[in-house]
Amino acid sequence: MKAEIISTGTELLLGETLNTSAHFLTGKLSSLGIEVDYHTTVGDNPERLEQVIRQAIGRTDLIITTGGLGPTVDDLTKELVAKVLKLEMELDPSCLEQINQFFGRRKAPMPMNNEKQAYFPKGSKILPNPIGTAPGAIIEINGKTVIILPGPPFEMNPMFDNYVWPELQQTIEPTDERMYERVLKVFGMGESAIEEVLADLMSFPNLSMALLAKRAEMHIRMVSRSSYSKSEEAEDVLNQAEKEIRRRLGNKVFGRDQESMVGIVGQLLKNKQFTIATAESCTGGLLGAALTQEPGSSEFYLGGVVSYSNSLKQGLLGVSEKSLLEYGAVSEEVAKEMAKGIRSTAGTDLAISTTGIAGPDGGSEQKPVGLVCIGLATPEGVQAEKIQLYGERESVRQLTVQAALNRVRLHMLNIERRLQFGDG
Ligand code: AMP
Ligand code: MG
Repeated sequence: MKAEIISTGTELLLGETLNTSAHFLTGKLSSLGIEVDYHTTVGDNPERLEQVIRQAIGRTDLIITTGGLGPTVDDLTKELVAKVLKLEMELDPSCLEQINQFFGRRKAPMPMNNEKQAYFPKGSKILPNPIGTAPGAIIEINGKTVIILPGPPFEMNPMFDNYVWPELQQTIEPTDERMYERVLKVFGMGESAIEEVLADLMSFPNLSMALLAKRAEMHIRMVSRSSYSKSEEAEDVLNQAEKEIRRRLGNKVFGRDQESMVGIVGQLLKNKQFTIATAESCTGGLLGAALTQEPGSSEFYLGGVVSYSNSLKQGLLGVSEKSLLEYGAVSEEVAKEMAKGIRSTAGTDLAISTTGIAGPDGGSEQKPVGLVCIGLATPEGVQAEKIQLYGERESVRQLTVQAALNRVRLHMLNIERRLQFGDG
Protein backbone atom coordinates (compact mmCIF):
# COMPACT_ATOMS: atom_id res chain seq x y z
CA MET A 1 0.00 0.00 0.00
CA LYS A 2 1.35 3.42 -1.01
CA ALA A 3 0.36 6.52 0.88
CA GLU A 4 0.37 10.28 0.48
CA ILE A 5 0.08 12.77 3.30
CA ILE A 6 -1.56 16.09 2.48
CA SER A 7 -0.90 18.79 5.06
CA THR A 8 -3.12 21.82 4.67
CA GLY A 9 -2.61 25.27 6.12
CA THR A 10 -1.12 28.50 4.86
CA GLU A 11 0.77 28.81 8.17
CA LEU A 12 2.80 25.75 7.14
CA LEU A 13 3.84 27.34 3.84
CA LEU A 14 4.74 30.60 5.56
CA GLY A 15 7.08 28.77 7.90
CA GLU A 16 5.12 29.92 10.95
CA THR A 17 4.21 26.39 11.99
CA LEU A 18 6.50 23.40 11.71
CA ASN A 19 4.78 20.50 9.97
CA THR A 20 5.05 18.03 12.83
CA SER A 21 1.99 16.09 11.67
CA ALA A 22 3.63 14.80 8.49
CA HIS A 23 6.55 13.62 10.64
CA PHE A 24 4.24 11.93 13.16
CA LEU A 25 2.10 10.21 10.52
CA THR A 26 5.05 9.03 8.44
CA GLY A 27 6.62 7.35 11.46
CA LYS A 28 3.36 5.59 12.28
CA LEU A 29 2.71 4.47 8.71
CA SER A 30 6.18 3.12 8.13
CA SER A 31 6.04 1.12 11.34
CA LEU A 32 2.88 -0.46 9.89
CA GLY A 33 4.80 -1.21 6.71
CA ILE A 34 2.90 1.37 4.67
CA GLU A 35 5.21 3.31 2.41
CA VAL A 36 4.72 7.04 2.18
CA ASP A 37 5.49 8.11 -1.38
CA TYR A 38 4.60 11.79 -1.10
CA HIS A 39 4.29 14.59 1.45
CA THR A 40 2.29 17.41 -0.03
CA THR A 41 1.76 20.73 1.73
CA VAL A 42 -0.81 23.15 0.44
CA GLY A 43 -2.23 26.45 1.69
CA ASP A 44 -5.89 27.18 2.52
CA ASN A 45 -6.76 27.79 -1.09
CA PRO A 46 -9.71 25.85 -2.55
CA GLU A 47 -8.42 25.50 -6.15
CA ARG A 48 -4.97 24.27 -5.16
CA LEU A 49 -6.30 22.01 -2.40
CA GLU A 50 -8.76 20.42 -4.83
CA GLN A 51 -5.98 19.88 -7.36
CA VAL A 52 -3.74 18.31 -4.73
CA ILE A 53 -6.50 15.92 -3.56
CA ARG A 54 -7.25 14.93 -7.17
CA GLN A 55 -3.57 14.29 -7.85
CA ALA A 56 -3.16 12.18 -4.68
CA ILE A 57 -6.17 10.03 -5.51
CA GLY A 58 -4.71 9.46 -8.95
CA ARG A 59 -1.34 8.25 -7.71
CA THR A 60 -1.70 6.55 -4.28
CA ASP A 61 -3.98 4.09 -2.46
CA LEU A 62 -4.13 5.77 0.93
CA ILE A 63 -4.45 9.52 1.40
CA ILE A 64 -4.34 11.17 4.80
CA THR A 65 -5.20 14.85 5.08
CA THR A 66 -4.64 17.04 8.11
CA GLY A 67 -6.18 20.42 8.83
CA GLY A 68 -8.99 22.44 7.36
CA LEU A 69 -11.79 20.89 9.44
CA GLY A 70 -12.53 24.02 11.43
CA PRO A 71 -15.85 25.87 11.47
CA THR A 72 -14.75 28.82 9.32
CA VAL A 73 -15.19 29.40 5.58
CA ASP A 74 -11.53 28.73 4.77
CA ASP A 75 -11.78 25.22 6.27
CA LEU A 76 -12.69 23.22 3.18
CA THR A 77 -10.97 19.86 3.26
CA LYS A 78 -14.08 17.66 3.68
CA GLU A 79 -16.04 19.62 1.07
CA LEU A 80 -13.23 19.32 -1.49
CA VAL A 81 -12.69 15.61 -0.84
CA ALA A 82 -16.44 15.15 -1.45
CA LYS A 83 -16.22 17.16 -4.65
CA VAL A 84 -13.29 15.16 -6.03
CA LEU A 85 -14.89 11.82 -5.09
CA LYS A 86 -18.28 13.01 -6.39
CA LEU A 87 -20.00 12.42 -3.05
CA GLU A 88 -22.77 14.46 -1.45
CA MET A 89 -22.24 16.16 1.91
CA GLU A 90 -24.55 14.70 4.52
CA LEU A 91 -25.45 15.82 8.04
CA ASP A 92 -24.61 13.31 10.76
CA PRO A 93 -27.15 13.96 13.54
CA SER A 94 -25.22 12.20 16.32
CA CYS A 95 -22.18 14.22 15.44
CA LEU A 96 -24.19 17.43 15.63
CA GLU A 97 -25.43 16.30 19.02
CA GLN A 98 -21.85 15.75 20.22
CA ILE A 99 -20.76 19.18 19.05
CA ASN A 100 -23.79 20.64 20.86
CA GLN A 101 -22.76 18.79 24.01
CA PHE A 102 -19.21 20.11 23.64
CA PHE A 103 -20.57 23.66 23.88
CA GLY A 104 -23.09 22.61 26.52
CA ARG A 105 -20.26 21.50 28.81
CA ARG A 106 -18.72 24.93 28.34
CA LYS A 107 -22.11 26.59 29.04
CA ALA A 108 -21.93 28.42 25.73
CA PRO A 109 -24.40 28.40 22.84
CA MET A 110 -23.14 26.61 19.72
CA PRO A 111 -22.24 29.13 17.02
CA MET A 112 -24.07 28.49 13.73
CA ASN A 113 -20.72 27.97 12.00
CA ASN A 114 -20.01 24.84 13.98
CA GLU A 115 -22.93 23.00 12.39
CA LYS A 116 -20.68 22.67 9.34
CA GLN A 117 -18.44 20.34 11.32
CA ALA A 118 -21.23 17.73 11.48
CA TYR A 119 -21.41 17.37 7.67
CA PHE A 120 -19.40 14.62 5.99
CA PRO A 121 -19.01 13.10 2.54
CA LYS A 122 -21.72 10.42 2.19
CA GLY A 123 -20.53 6.99 3.36
CA SER A 124 -17.89 8.38 5.76
CA LYS A 125 -16.97 6.49 8.85
CA ILE A 126 -16.79 9.26 11.44
CA LEU A 127 -13.91 9.46 13.90
CA PRO A 128 -14.84 11.07 17.22
CA ASN A 129 -12.84 13.98 18.58
CA PRO A 130 -13.14 14.07 22.38
CA ILE A 131 -10.74 17.02 22.60
CA GLY A 132 -12.11 19.46 20.03
CA THR A 133 -15.13 20.04 17.83
CA ALA A 134 -13.72 18.70 14.54
CA PRO A 135 -14.43 14.98 14.03
CA GLY A 136 -12.36 13.14 11.45
CA ALA A 137 -13.50 10.67 8.81
CA ILE A 138 -12.49 7.60 6.85
CA ILE A 139 -13.86 7.18 3.34
CA GLU A 140 -13.33 4.01 1.36
CA ILE A 141 -14.24 4.17 -2.29
CA ASN A 142 -13.10 2.38 -5.46
CA GLY A 143 -10.17 0.71 -3.71
CA LYS A 144 -8.89 4.01 -2.32
CA THR A 145 -8.93 5.13 1.30
CA VAL A 146 -9.09 8.78 2.26
CA ILE A 147 -8.60 9.64 5.92
CA ILE A 148 -9.44 13.17 7.01
CA LEU A 149 -7.92 14.36 10.28
CA PRO A 150 -7.97 17.67 12.19
CA GLY A 151 -5.05 20.13 12.19
CA PRO A 152 -4.06 20.65 15.83
CA PRO A 153 -1.54 17.90 16.69
CA PHE A 154 -3.01 17.42 20.18
CA GLU A 155 -6.31 16.45 18.50
CA MET A 156 -4.88 14.66 15.46
CA ASN A 157 -2.35 12.42 17.26
CA PRO A 158 -4.80 10.75 19.69
CA MET A 159 -7.41 10.41 16.92
CA PHE A 160 -4.85 8.59 14.80
CA ASP A 161 -3.72 6.32 17.64
CA ASN A 162 -7.23 5.50 18.88
CA TYR A 163 -9.21 5.14 15.66
CA VAL A 164 -7.00 5.10 12.57
CA TRP A 165 -4.18 2.81 13.71
CA PRO A 166 -6.53 -0.12 14.57
CA GLU A 167 -8.31 0.25 11.20
CA LEU A 168 -5.06 0.25 9.23
CA GLN A 169 -3.70 -2.67 11.20
CA GLN A 170 -6.70 -4.75 10.11
CA THR A 171 -5.93 -4.21 6.46
CA ILE A 172 -2.50 -5.82 6.74
CA GLU A 173 -2.13 -9.37 5.44
CA PRO A 174 0.61 -11.71 6.70
CA THR A 175 1.88 -11.96 3.11
CA ASP A 176 2.19 -8.17 2.75
CA GLU A 177 5.71 -6.98 2.33
CA ARG A 178 7.12 -4.40 4.68
CA MET A 179 10.39 -2.63 5.46
CA TYR A 180 12.43 -3.51 8.51
CA GLU A 181 14.81 -0.80 9.60
CA ARG A 182 17.90 -0.64 11.76
CA VAL A 183 20.12 2.34 12.51
CA LEU A 184 23.74 2.09 13.62
CA LYS A 185 25.19 5.23 15.19
CA VAL A 186 28.81 6.23 14.68
CA PHE A 187 31.01 8.83 16.33
CA GLY A 188 34.44 9.96 15.20
CA MET A 189 34.21 9.15 11.49
CA GLY A 190 32.97 11.27 8.60
CA GLU A 191 30.51 10.39 5.88
CA SER A 192 33.05 9.69 3.16
CA ALA A 193 35.36 7.68 5.42
CA ILE A 194 32.45 5.45 6.40
CA GLU A 195 31.33 5.12 2.81
CA GLU A 196 34.81 4.04 1.76
CA VAL A 197 34.95 1.31 4.38
CA LEU A 198 31.43 0.07 3.68
CA ALA A 199 31.23 0.57 -0.09
CA ASP A 200 30.98 -3.11 -1.01
CA LEU A 201 28.21 -3.72 1.54
CA MET A 202 25.97 -1.41 -0.46
CA SER A 203 25.34 -4.34 -2.79
CA PHE A 204 24.38 -6.80 -0.03
CA PRO A 205 21.28 -8.68 -1.25
CA ASN A 206 17.97 -7.36 0.10
CA LEU A 207 19.65 -4.51 1.94
CA SER A 208 19.62 -0.83 1.23
CA MET A 209 21.90 1.41 3.18
CA ALA A 210 21.99 5.17 3.61
CA LEU A 211 24.32 7.46 5.54
CA LEU A 212 22.69 10.35 7.39
CA ALA A 213 24.89 13.08 8.84
CA LYS A 214 23.61 14.42 12.17
CA ARG A 215 25.22 17.31 14.03
CA ALA A 216 27.45 15.23 16.28
CA GLU A 217 27.11 11.71 14.90
CA MET A 218 26.64 9.71 11.71
CA HIS A 219 23.76 7.31 11.26
CA ILE A 220 23.92 4.26 9.03
CA ARG A 221 20.33 3.37 8.17
CA MET A 222 19.76 -0.14 6.88
CA VAL A 223 16.51 -1.37 5.41
CA SER A 224 15.57 -4.90 4.49
CA ARG A 225 12.24 -6.19 3.17
CA SER A 226 10.19 -9.25 3.86
CA SER A 227 6.59 -10.20 4.42
CA TYR A 228 5.09 -9.85 7.90
CA SER A 229 4.98 -13.62 8.26
CA LYS A 230 8.67 -14.00 7.38
CA SER A 231 10.14 -11.12 9.34
CA GLU A 232 13.07 -13.33 10.39
CA GLU A 233 14.36 -13.19 6.79
CA ALA A 234 14.80 -9.44 7.03
CA GLU A 235 16.08 -9.68 10.60
CA ASP A 236 18.74 -12.12 9.40
CA VAL A 237 19.97 -9.74 6.72
CA LEU A 238 20.08 -6.86 9.21
CA ASN A 239 21.93 -8.98 11.80
CA GLN A 240 24.54 -10.06 9.26
CA ALA A 241 25.06 -6.53 8.00
CA GLU A 242 25.26 -5.13 11.53
CA LYS A 243 27.85 -7.72 12.48
CA GLU A 244 29.96 -6.91 9.45
CA ILE A 245 29.72 -3.14 9.98
CA ARG A 246 30.68 -3.47 13.63
CA ARG A 247 33.63 -5.69 12.62
CA ARG A 248 34.87 -3.02 10.22
CA LEU A 249 34.17 0.10 12.27
CA GLY A 250 34.93 -1.34 15.71
CA ASN A 251 34.15 0.90 18.64
CA LYS A 252 33.38 3.83 16.34
CA VAL A 253 29.86 2.37 16.45
CA PHE A 254 28.43 3.49 19.76
CA GLY A 255 24.84 2.37 19.54
CA ARG A 256 21.84 1.44 17.48
CA ASP A 257 18.21 2.46 16.94
CA GLN A 258 16.91 4.31 20.00
CA GLU A 259 20.23 4.23 21.86
CA SER A 260 21.98 7.54 22.47
CA MET A 261 25.59 8.34 23.34
CA VAL A 262 24.64 9.58 26.80
CA GLY A 263 22.38 6.57 27.39
CA ILE A 264 25.20 4.20 26.51
CA VAL A 265 27.69 6.05 28.71
CA GLY A 266 25.21 5.98 31.61
CA GLN A 267 24.70 2.26 31.15
CA LEU A 268 28.44 1.54 31.10
CA LEU A 269 28.96 3.59 34.28
CA LYS A 270 26.03 1.91 36.03
CA ASN A 271 27.23 -1.57 35.05
CA LYS A 272 30.51 -0.94 36.84
CA GLN A 273 28.90 1.19 39.58
CA PHE A 274 31.22 4.05 38.64
CA THR A 275 30.53 7.68 39.49
CA ILE A 276 31.51 10.72 37.48
CA ALA A 277 31.79 14.52 37.88
CA THR A 278 32.31 17.30 35.33
CA ALA A 279 34.37 20.48 35.05
CA GLU A 280 33.22 22.56 32.10
CA SER A 281 34.49 25.65 30.43
CA CYS A 282 33.45 26.01 26.78
CA THR A 283 30.38 23.75 27.17
CA GLY A 284 29.01 25.94 29.98
CA GLY A 285 26.97 23.16 31.63
CA LEU A 286 25.83 21.34 28.48
CA LEU A 287 27.78 18.24 29.48
CA GLY A 288 26.14 18.15 32.90
CA ALA A 289 22.77 18.75 31.24
CA ALA A 290 23.39 15.83 28.85
CA LEU A 291 24.39 13.55 31.71
CA THR A 292 21.21 14.39 33.63
CA GLN A 293 18.98 13.87 30.59
CA GLU A 294 18.18 10.26 31.36
CA PRO A 295 16.14 9.23 34.39
CA GLY A 296 18.31 7.47 36.95
CA SER A 297 21.39 9.57 36.23
CA SER A 298 21.83 10.27 39.95
CA GLU A 299 23.20 6.74 40.20
CA PHE A 300 26.37 7.79 38.40
CA TYR A 301 26.50 11.60 38.00
CA LEU A 302 27.39 13.52 41.15
CA GLY A 303 27.56 17.01 39.64
CA GLY A 304 30.08 19.48 38.38
CA VAL A 305 31.46 22.95 38.07
CA VAL A 306 31.07 25.45 35.26
CA SER A 307 34.34 27.35 35.47
CA TYR A 308 34.27 29.75 32.56
CA SER A 309 36.77 32.26 33.92
CA ASN A 310 40.38 31.58 34.79
CA SER A 311 39.77 32.75 38.34
CA LEU A 312 37.11 30.09 38.91
CA LYS A 313 39.32 27.47 37.27
CA GLN A 314 41.88 28.37 39.91
CA GLY A 315 39.52 28.99 42.83
CA LEU A 316 37.14 26.05 42.44
CA LEU A 317 39.30 23.48 40.70
CA GLY A 318 42.80 24.29 41.84
CA VAL A 319 44.14 24.91 38.33
CA SER A 320 47.60 26.47 38.75
CA GLU A 321 48.37 30.02 37.71
CA LYS A 322 51.57 28.74 36.17
CA SER A 323 49.73 26.41 33.76
CA LEU A 324 47.27 29.14 32.81
CA LEU A 325 50.12 31.54 32.03
CA GLU A 326 52.42 29.05 30.40
CA TYR A 327 49.96 26.98 28.35
CA GLY A 328 46.75 29.08 28.32
CA ALA A 329 43.22 28.11 29.43
CA VAL A 330 42.71 25.99 26.31
CA SER A 331 45.46 23.45 26.78
CA GLU A 332 45.85 19.80 27.63
CA GLU A 333 47.62 20.84 30.82
CA VAL A 334 44.68 22.92 32.08
CA ALA A 335 42.14 20.28 30.96
CA LYS A 336 44.03 17.73 33.06
CA GLU A 337 44.13 19.99 36.12
CA MET A 338 40.42 20.76 35.80
CA ALA A 339 39.55 17.05 35.70
CA LYS A 340 41.89 16.24 38.53
CA GLY A 341 40.50 19.11 40.63
CA ILE A 342 36.84 18.17 40.28
CA ARG A 343 37.59 14.47 40.82
CA SER A 344 39.24 15.12 44.15
CA THR A 345 36.52 17.55 45.30
CA ALA A 346 33.65 15.29 44.22
CA GLY A 347 35.30 12.05 45.25
CA THR A 348 34.16 10.27 42.09
CA ASP A 349 35.75 7.39 40.19
CA LEU A 350 36.00 9.48 37.03
CA ALA A 351 35.99 13.15 36.13
CA ILE A 352 35.78 14.74 32.72
CA SER A 353 36.62 18.31 31.71
CA THR A 354 36.16 20.53 28.67
CA THR A 355 38.02 23.66 27.66
CA GLY A 356 38.02 25.06 24.14
CA ILE A 357 37.46 27.94 21.76
CA ALA A 358 33.83 27.83 20.66
CA GLY A 359 34.09 30.97 18.50
CA PRO A 360 33.28 32.95 16.52
CA ASP A 361 35.92 35.15 18.22
CA GLY A 362 38.89 34.25 20.35
CA GLY A 363 40.80 32.12 17.86
CA SER A 364 44.45 32.59 16.91
CA GLU A 365 46.91 30.96 14.59
CA GLN A 366 48.16 28.52 17.23
CA LYS A 367 44.72 28.07 18.76
CA PRO A 368 42.05 28.32 16.08
CA VAL A 369 38.30 28.36 16.72
CA GLY A 370 37.14 24.79 17.33
CA LEU A 371 40.26 23.74 19.22
CA VAL A 372 39.08 21.78 22.26
CA CYS A 373 40.85 19.94 25.05
CA ILE A 374 39.14 17.19 26.98
CA GLY A 375 40.59 15.92 30.23
CA LEU A 376 39.82 12.62 31.90
CA ALA A 377 40.82 11.82 35.47
CA THR A 378 40.64 8.20 36.60
CA PRO A 379 42.04 6.25 39.56
CA GLU A 380 45.02 5.42 37.32
CA GLY A 381 45.91 9.01 36.48
CA VAL A 382 44.95 11.94 34.30
CA GLN A 383 45.02 12.22 30.53
CA ALA A 384 43.94 14.82 28.03
CA GLU A 385 43.33 14.96 24.33
CA LYS A 386 43.35 17.87 21.97
CA ILE A 387 40.89 17.85 19.09
CA GLN A 388 40.09 20.22 16.27
CA LEU A 389 36.36 20.65 15.64
CA TYR A 390 34.68 22.60 12.87
CA GLY A 391 31.46 24.54 12.55
CA GLU A 392 29.68 27.44 14.20
CA ARG A 393 29.62 28.03 17.94
CA GLU A 394 26.68 25.75 18.77
CA SER A 395 28.12 22.89 16.72
CA VAL A 396 31.48 23.19 18.44
CA ARG A 397 29.80 23.10 21.86
CA GLN A 398 27.56 20.13 21.01
CA LEU A 399 30.44 18.24 19.40
CA THR A 400 32.55 18.86 22.48
CA VAL A 401 29.86 17.32 24.69
CA GLN A 402 29.65 14.31 22.40
CA ALA A 403 33.45 13.95 22.24
CA ALA A 404 33.71 14.15 26.05
CA LEU A 405 31.01 11.49 26.48
CA ASN A 406 32.75 9.37 23.87
CA ARG A 407 36.00 9.69 25.81
CA VAL A 408 34.24 8.25 28.87
CA ARG A 409 32.66 5.51 26.75
CA LEU A 410 36.03 4.43 25.34
CA HIS A 411 37.54 4.42 28.80
CA MET A 412 34.75 2.21 30.16
CA LEU A 413 35.03 -0.17 27.18
CA ASN A 414 38.74 -0.42 27.83
CA ILE A 415 38.13 -1.39 31.44
CA GLU A 416 35.66 -4.06 30.31
CA ARG A 417 38.13 -5.39 27.78
CA ARG A 418 40.99 -5.50 30.31
CA LEU A 419 38.80 -7.40 32.77
CA GLN A 420 37.75 -9.79 30.03
CA PHE A 421 41.32 -10.55 29.05
CA GLY A 422 42.50 -10.64 32.66
CA ASP A 423 45.38 -8.21 32.15
CA GLY A 424 44.07 -5.42 34.35
P1 AMP B 1 -6.77 23.79 11.18
O1 AMP B 1 -7.61 22.67 11.66
O2 AMP B 1 -6.35 23.61 9.77
O3 AMP B 1 -7.42 25.12 11.38
O4 AMP B 1 -5.43 23.79 12.04
C1 AMP B 1 -5.43 24.27 13.35
C2 AMP B 1 -4.05 24.48 13.90
O5 AMP B 1 -3.35 23.23 13.94
C3 AMP B 1 -3.13 25.36 13.06
O6 AMP B 1 -3.24 26.70 13.40
C4 AMP B 1 -1.75 24.85 13.41
O7 AMP B 1 -1.27 25.51 14.56
C5 AMP B 1 -1.97 23.39 13.73
N1 AMP B 1 -1.57 22.56 12.61
C6 AMP B 1 -2.25 22.32 11.45
N2 AMP B 1 -1.58 21.49 10.65
C7 AMP B 1 -0.43 21.18 11.27
C8 AMP B 1 0.70 20.37 10.94
N3 AMP B 1 0.76 19.70 9.78
N4 AMP B 1 1.72 20.29 11.83
C9 AMP B 1 1.65 20.97 12.99
N5 AMP B 1 0.62 21.75 13.37
C10 AMP B 1 -0.42 21.88 12.52
MG1 MG C 1 -5.80 25.20 8.70
